[in-house]
Amino acid sequence: MEILSPRHWLDYARRNRLRILMYHSIADAPNDRLAVTPEMFHAQMCYLADNQFQVISLQSACELLALPTWKGNRTQTNHVLSKVEGTDKHRDPSFFSVFQRSSVSNTSFPIGIAQTEWLKAHGDLRKKIVLTFDDGYADFLTTAAPILKTYGFPATLFVVTGRGGETARWSTADKTRRTLSADELREVKALGFALGSHTATHADLTTLDATVLDHELCESRAAIAKMGEAFIPLAYPGGRFTRRERDAAERAEYDSALIVGGRWGKGAETDLFLLKREPMLASDSLDWFARRVNGYYEFHYLWARARGIETR
Ligand SMILES: [Zn+2]
Repeated sequence: MEILSPRHWLDYARRNRLRILMYHSIADAPNDRLAVTPEMFHAQMCYLADNQFQVISLQSACELLALPTWKGNRTQTNHVLSKVEGTDKHRDPSFFSVFQRSSVSNTSFPIGIAQTEWLKAHGDLRKKIVLTFDDGYADFLTTAAPILKTYGFPATLFVVTGRGGETARWSTADKTRRTLSADELREVKALGFALGSHTATHADLTTLDATVLDHELCESRAAIAKMGEAFIPLAYPGGRFTRRERDAAERAEYDSALIVGGRWGKGAETDLFLLKREPMLASDSLDWFARRVNGYYEFHYLWARARGIETR
């Protein structure tokens, strides 16, 4: 099986990857599989600091990823999306596309001297981490922000702009959880954290007609701009998107857009409107966290999928 050939593993290991972590609520909420406890979150940030990870802003990450690369090409977008638009479009599209790519274009796995030179100039993306928080929950300000400030870590908070100060009615775990009000968002910004758009109402973008889709994206982008942000990223609600939503985000003049999932980071040829994120789960032990940020989980996932083993 080609996927298990030594060349594939070698190419995989050599990829210069940057990991974007996706958090939601930082709270003691045993029934919410996406809520990380404050103790665990603190331990995770401590791990990053102790192990020489460099936590950078999403904007810095996008600037790094947009730099001229040794042999980058953007044809991979088509491979990701051809998978996305298939029958399982809402599942993580990243798995098989990485292998499909290598058989189509030899330039998709840049290795060798050119890569070494690029790394020398721009640093090793594998030690760089971006922190993001979806939904704009109130506990970001009360719980996550003080911990992040302790370590001096930047973060981006993705806000549902039309639902500020309301409860998270879109949540499948806790519809009573409060989101940050406009005043509190100003406080978040004053603390140095960045705001991004999570659309106006947290609608499933793939279900909207074209006019409503553009409205969701444009209204929300304008609200974030009004709060003083110049670099404005989007996080697709529920990670649901197809090519149509991806293109609508670019058309609405977002600077980048983030998807859910993604067990493998991306190099400099990345499509900035399909940035992959590692979902942080309540069930993750600190060991699991360490594996995630060190890339073990990606290997584990590939290994398990290659053998047809179900992974979480
Ligand atoms: Zn969300």
